[in-house]
Amino acid sequence: MQRQAELEALALQCDRCQGCALATGRQQVVVGRGNPEARLMLIGEAPGADEDAQGQPFVGRSGQLLDQLLIAAGLDPQRDLYICNAIKCRPPANRRPKPAELAACRPWLARQIGLIDPQLVVLVGATALEAVLGIKGGITGLRGQWCDASAGPLQEELRGRRLLPILHPSYLLRFGRESDGSPRWLTRRDLAAVREALTAAPN
Ligand code: SF4
Repeated sequence: MQRQAELEALALQCDRCQGCALATGRQQVVVGRGNPEARLMLIGEAPGADEDAQGQPFVGRSGQLLDQLLIAAGLDPQRDLYICNAIKCRPPANRRPKPAELAACRPWLARQIGLIDPQLVVLVGATALEAVLGIKGGITGLRGQWCDASAGPLQEELRGRRLLPILHPSYLLRFGRESDGSPRWLTRRDLAAVREALTAAPN
């Protein structure tokens, strides 16, 4: 309960944030959803229109696809994980967040990581990779490879945690195919690896 209370306090503070220009266009700040006690944390990019309207991350089409893939991998989105974005306010026209916006919002993400204290962190898409590890591009080559945050802007907060980049579900929506090697097939495999790692990790 302590963690839940601290997360609620963080959300109240975040609601008032004017740390970057995205504050002017938002309907509401989108902080996170899921289980604050989970050992698995997913970090995505930024809220879209549905998330901005509902105040919850990953509730639009791509979020629904992500939930389906998580459930298929044996992960319950309400019980097994906490999910948030690198950026808490919707960028106009769903453009990619700018580096200055990622930097401005990073202290909120750092506090969330500290509060959730996850053993495993899944970086959902290229922007999460950039926000957390400071790596621009390269999601295609790095997805599915466990790593640690021995460098990057959040290395202190992520010390001792295992990280796995995966493709963003909005990218998967462009491909309907499920054949071997397709983006959806790769993501199913990556999430199965997450499930295995979570099962193997000590409680
Ligand atoms: S995106 Fe982040 S830093 Fe910018 S106003 Fe929203 S909460 Fe503050």
